[in-house]
Amino acid sequence: MEALYDNYDRKIDYLRISVTDRCNLRCFYCMPEEGITPKPHEEILSYEEIKRFAEAAVATGITKIRLTGGEPLVRRDIVKLVEMLANIPGLNDLSLTTNGILLPHHAEDLKKAGLQRVNVSIDSLDPETYQKLTRLGGVEKALAGVRVALELGFDPVKINTVLIKGVNDDPKDFIRLIHDYPVHVRFIEFMPVGDWNPELYLSIDELKQKLGRYGGFEPVEGPKGAGPAQYATCKGALGTLGFISPISNHFCPSCNRLRLTPDGKLRVCLFSDAEFDVRPILRGNTSEQEIAAFIRTVTESKPERHSAGAQEKPARLMCQIGG
Ligand code: SAM
Ligand code: SF4
Ligand code: SF4
Repeated sequence: MEALYDNYDRKIDYLRISVTDRCNLRCFYCMPEEGITPKPHEEILSYEEIKRFAEAAVATGITKIRLTGGEPLVRRDIVKLVEMLANIPGLNDLSLTTNGILLPHHAEDLKKAGLQRVNVSIDSLDPETYQKLTRLGGVEKALAGVRVALELGFDPVKINTVLIKGVNDDPKDFIRLIHDYPVHVRFIEFMPVGDWNPELYLSIDELKQKLGRYGGFEPVEGPKGAGPAQYATCKGALGTLGFISPISNHFCPSCNRLRLTPDGKLRVCLFSDAEFDVRPILRGNTSEQEIAAFIRTVTESKPERHSAGAQEKPARLMCQIGG
């Protein structure tokens, strides 16, 4: 099996594919309240095109793919795409990140189609705070998605929580959640993308100080696909808390990822606006070997690390890149 390395000798084996820039929520840090003008359909990669790209990526050494968005479950026939990707030989890990709202409708079919893992984004368990953050959502619906994923045996089920200072930075409710359910709640530092306000940034260290109040947390090994997260748990809990610090303690030296946007731009770093247009290649008469060669060349331009905070934010919003 081939392996893909960048110029800093990092092994690149993870591809995040954003399948849509549309969403059924409007999280304040990701999408404006009125929504965005979505890319026209003809600019969005078809499932056939995504599959061709994924096959070539796996041939270069990608072994893990995550589907994201926008909200991946709002794209029509998403189950079909999962089925198409799950059958690629050499792809070991196929997962999806969702806000969970539509998960009860799709989870069973996604599982049957070969999806292995889901991450559900829930920034607060308090209905009012969740509503305020997402502008459209109901936390009970997202939690119903989590319950269905657990019932169907998705393992692990992770919850992503972006830390917003003064809004959702008390971990009390999530501690209760990991006592009730075998879920892995990962707190993620708010990154300077989209509507970012430095005053709302809280570091993982600051969160851990707050966690100290509740006591008894010990470091533990993370679940499958732990990536850059560190985990901890406490007596009696069924799940864990995870900590991801892209800003205060960035993990660029071990970065293993590439991103494909819905309109077919390959991005080598979340914080770099360098984009490489894959669409003409996928729509032309190009062989898998040629697409693979393109991926290898593009990977060489991956920057060593981000300069987020010191420089401008990415030009695109998170929903347009694929978080
Ligand atoms: N709609 C799906 C969801 O919300 O899970 C998938 C796409 S969303 C863009 C992917 C992840 O990016 C979510 O967990 C979201 O909270 C996270 N995200 C978006 N903007 C962020 C930011 N500025 N900092 C940190 N995480 C962010
Ligand atoms: Fe939609 Fe996810 Fe962005 Fe929230 S974070 S607006 S759910 S794409
Ligand atoms: Fe990788 Fe760029 Fe994220 Fe660093 S900022 S971890 S290099 S994608």
